[in-house]
Amino acid sequence: MIIKAQKGTKDVLPEEYIQWKNILNKADEIFKYANFKQISTPIFEATELFKRGVGDSTDIVNKEMYTFEKSERSITLRPENTAGVVRAYLEHNMQREIQPVKLWYFGPMFRYERPQAGRQRQFHQLGVEMFGIEDASADADCIYTAVKFFEAVGLKNLSVELNSLGCNSCRNKFREKIKNLIEPVLSELCFDCQKRFSTNPLRILDCKNETCKQIFDEKQILEKISHIELCEECSTHYSQLKSHLDMLNVKYIENPFLVRGLDYYTRTVFEIKSENLGSQNAVCGGGRYDNLVETLGGPKTPAVGWAVGMERLYSLTEKDNVKNIDYFVISDNISEALKLTNEIRNRNKTAEMDYSKRKFTKQIEKASKIADFAVIIGESEIAKHTITIKNLKNFEQTEIDRDIFISSIN
Ligand SMILES: [Zn+2]
Ligand SMILES: [Zn+2]
Repeated sequence: MIIKAQKGTKDVLPEEYIQWKNILNKADEIFKYANFKQISTPIFEATELFKRGVGDSTDIVNKEMYTFEKSERSITLRPENTAGVVRAYLEHNMQREIQPVKLWYFGPMFRYERPQAGRQRQFHQLGVEMFGIEDASADADCIYTAVKFFEAVGLKNLSVELNSLGCNSCRNKFREKIKNLIEPVLSELCFDCQKRFSTNPLRILDCKNETCKQIFDEKQILEKISHIELCEECSTHYSQLKSHLDMLNVKYIENPFLVRGLDYYTRTVFEIKSENLGSQNAVCGGGRYDNLVETLGGPKTPAVGWAVGMERLYSLTEKDNVKNIDYFVISDNISEALKLTNEIRNRNKTAEMDYSKRKFTKQIEKASKIADFAVIIGESEIAKHTITIKNLKNFEQTEIDRDIFISSIN
């Protein structure tokens, strides 16, 4: 019996990987200009890092982590990369470097989720983190970089949804307001909301449970909650962010109920949506997390970042055709074929051979399916130090000197 890939995991096949690479090359280019440097952190970390970093009250930590014991240590496959990047920032004393420190990452993440369309247990995220700047220009710069990147990979009709969750004191007041409004209907809400009521009441606002949504509707709870009242500093920060985005020509919509699934966000939170392929899809989420570095044992350090799921991004981008091989070398002399094939490759062209002594007609038949040109080097060509080049579209062919052929490839 053939062993199959695990539920919620997927092979990235060669055709798909061509597009992944296109996307990653764009990331490399756009992020380089914006002075983000790539970092790669281990795929497993101490479980404690995610409990403290992502937050004990989140679904990710409560339900979705792959945690195991090894030598009496509790280890977890990373469910996201921000906590790991913050750990690396602290472990390598990057807070002593010139700020901001701007990093980007790409790699697999792991969450034990019910596999459904677009949700994998092993999925890939690409993201940026920017440390050391509290000013709203950092938030605007990160958002702008994201928009530039998504435009570069061909996403259309991008829109940014924006909200501010304020600082701890703004949030505490907001939390009380939510609790007061929710308390009378609490017993009718879903189990998760009942739990969130004490751990993280803000999360009740984006509950996806139909019953909960209906109750919110009937009692006009969201209207009553309306929006977070920001303190003066947070309010200034938020309006500065909006004016920076205006200046950069980034269109945004304010969404007072955008809270994001993670505990660590402070002030700015945002999502970027694209209208590719019909429906509106959130491709990217992020925000500011001014307390996280401190929560993980470092000095107080403001930070902002975002992440995007590679599988989602891939599904929204146009696919390139798989390119033909440039030259297919045909010969019944395997060693001559091997030599010529690699001479062509050394001129930076894609070349392939048959690795056999099969009849030329068989070799040409194969070549015409996958290559643009056949390069024939039979006994007579070898004797004359020539090759015969055959255009596999129109089957025109010419015989030329072997050295002239090689030097003409560019
Ligand atoms: Zn505040
Ligand atoms: Zn609920």
